[in-house]
Amino acid sequence: MKNKKMRHYKYLLDHHREDREELIDDMEGIRMGEYDNFYLDELSGYDNHPAEIASELYDMEHYMALKKLQMDEVKSIKRAEKKMEEGTYGICEHCGNEIDSKRLELLPQARLCIDCARKEERETISSKEQTMKKRPSEEQVIEAWELNRDGVQNEALDDLMHYGSSSDIE
Ligand SMILES: [Zn+2]
Repeated sequence: MKNKKMRHYKYLLDHHREDREELIDDMEGIRMGEYDNFYLDELSGYDNHPAEIASELYDMEHYMALKKLQMDEVKSIKRAEKKMEEGTYGICEHCGNEIDSKRLELLPQARLCIDCARKEERETISSKEQTMKKRPSEEQVIEAWELNRDGVQNEALDDLMHYGSSSDIE
């Protein structure tokens, strides 16, 4: 790759990294203000409606995921900068082909060519689907909460427990 082009991508990378780092700083600020006493205030409050707690948990999860995304971006930008030093920048880590310049323009930290990236994306999605199947959904968690709170449903649950208990079988 020509030096002039390389300087251009270096500039893009710097820019991207600064943006991300600023964002992470902003998010740290939010965390300090809003979430510091999150577990103490929200989760120990039994009076809160379970759906509200679930929504707070969702916000928290959402925020953590967002922050992780930004940090991952910074990591991959730093990685690309290291590759510049090593002289392997712009080369696909999978197949060793040159990454298309249009792709680098949009995603200067790209470590894969478009073909390999698409392939990897498909694999990631299918492995995510596998994980999702193993975890209980948010709806199921709320349902369990509702079941414990609601007296009528509790009675129904009691009936169910009696019905299924071993004494009935004897
Ligand atoms: Zn490739």
